Amino acid sequence: MQSLPTVLLKPGEADRVLAGHPWIYHGSVLRLTQPAADGELVQVKDHRQRFLGTGFYNSRSKINVRVLSPDRIEPNQAFFEERVRAALAVRQRHLPAATSFRVVNAESDFLSGLIVDKYEDVLVVQISSLGMDQRKPVIVAALHAIFSPRAIVERGELSSRKFEGLADANGVLAGTLEGPVPISLNGLRFEADVFAGHKTGLYLDQQVNYQRVADLAKGGQVLDCFSFLGGFGLHAARASAAHVHMLDQSAEAIAAATRNAAANNLAEKCSAEAVNAFDWLKAQTMTQPHEKLVPRWDLVVLDPPSFTRNRASVPDALRGYKEIHLRALKLLKSGGTLATFCCSHHVDAGLFQDTVLSAAFDAHRILRRVATYSQSPDHPIIPMIPETEYLKGFAFEVVR
Ligand code: SAH
Repeated sequence: MQSLPTVLLKPGEADRVLAGHPWIYHGSVLRLTQPAADGELVQVKDHRQRFLGTGFYNSRSKINVRVLSPDRIEPNQAFFEERVRAALAVRQRHLPAATSFRVVNAESDFLSGLIVDKYEDVLVVQISSLGMDQRKPVIVAALHAIFSPRAIVERGELSSRKFEGLADANGVLAGTLEGPVPISLNGLRFEADVFAGHKTGLYLDQQVNYQRVADLAKGGQVLDCFSFLGGFGLHAARASAAHVHMLDQSAEAIAAATRNAAANNLAEKCSAEAVNAFDWLKAQTMTQPHEKLVPRWDLVVLDPPSFTRNRASVPDALRGYKEIHLRALKLLKSGGTLATFCCSHHVDAGLFQDTVLSAAFDAHRILRRVATYSQSPDHPIIPMIPETEYLKGFAFEVVR
């Protein structure tokens, strides 16, 4: 262990690491005591040579070190088994009934650069750091020892891999798998396309919210905008909705949502349309002169993609958020409910709510906030690592 290359930090840079943030940027590094290979394990010390932890080094990334532990560790199979078991215990505590969930959420589980999703008996691995990539065989061995899965699939086409000098990597790492994986979320069937679906197949981060929002359907007409595979829509249909209409611009998503509705015997209550939600909402709110818009929805769900890539794109994103909220609020009956989500890390809950309220002002509607939402507990939030928090949502009743 003594022979590990040492990364010395500049004065003032140690506290963040001590507090638990795993990223050490290039600009925080004073010097290396000996050359370190990219991907190698290094030890980190402050400028007074006080030991801070061990982590993976990568000179090619803006994040020079991703700290793994405040202790001296060996990143072998036993290490990964222990970390993954600890992460699994968090899920078993907070999502005891779930059979498909995120097992490892990178920084949230103290494994920066590694995501592992469980779709029933199939695991999907997503690696975004060089150090993790080089340990793929021991990570796969650790996952095998814990889960004995039918297959382990890699989904590595993240833009962040580029910043670590990694090429795309997709394929089956262990076992065999073809086609989509049938999974259960809260007892509803969905097909997860782990080879090509969004993220690693679908959005596991809304699992808890699907059920909570469905409880607001109360026998009414439900509009699920940006529906993808129908997560919100199908939960609402099963709960009590009279009818659910789902919108997504992706024809494949709408086809899958329609299959999912049928697989759950909910086809009669559901319809789905492949359209641009902005255009659709706009068309629905257009009126001829002297014509009055008759709102007909009891529950509208808005779960758009992140409109931001970085901080600079926030103003444009807010214009987009405001536009869909304005339209949705015009389409909601008095007494109806808007359930709305924002998955951009760069737009916090306060800014998001301000945007909704600005739309409500323009739509002449008064809102009562009846619920607040966050990401499901298999995407843990570590407040010391602000980047781990991204999904926020609200339910608002239209008072008038
Ligand atoms: N509510 C979904 C996740 C939505 S992700 C769930 O819980 O699974 C965002 C979705 O919006 C994607 O499926 C994407 O295809 C769709 N999308 C992006 N831009 C869109 C647009 N302008 N109109 C309609 N759908 C859009």
